[in-house]
Amino acid sequence: MLKPEICPYCGEKRLEELQPTEIMVDDTVWTIYHYECQFCTEVFDKIITEGELQYDVTEDDLIDYADEDDIEKKFRN
Ligand SMILES: [Zn+2]
Repeated sequence: MLKPEICPYCGEKRLEELQPTEIMVDDTVWTIYHYECQFCTEVFDKIITEGELQYDVTEDDLIDYADEDDIEKKFRN
C-alpha cells in the first residue's frame, strides 16, 4: 500500500490515517483513504482504484464454475 509520507500542505510527516471510504464507480471499487496532518490539521485524500484487477478475478471464477457444471452433467448421464 502506497501511503503518503509527508503532508502536501506543510511538508510535515505527522499524518493520521482516518477510516477509509469505499464507493462503487462504474462497477469498480474505489477506496478513498483519508489522511489528517497532525501539524497543520489539513485533511487530504488518496484514491485507489482496483476495478480491472477485480474484473479479471470475477471472469476466472465464472469460467471455473462453467467447467464444474459440464463435469456434473456428464456424470449424471
Ligand atoms: Zn500539514
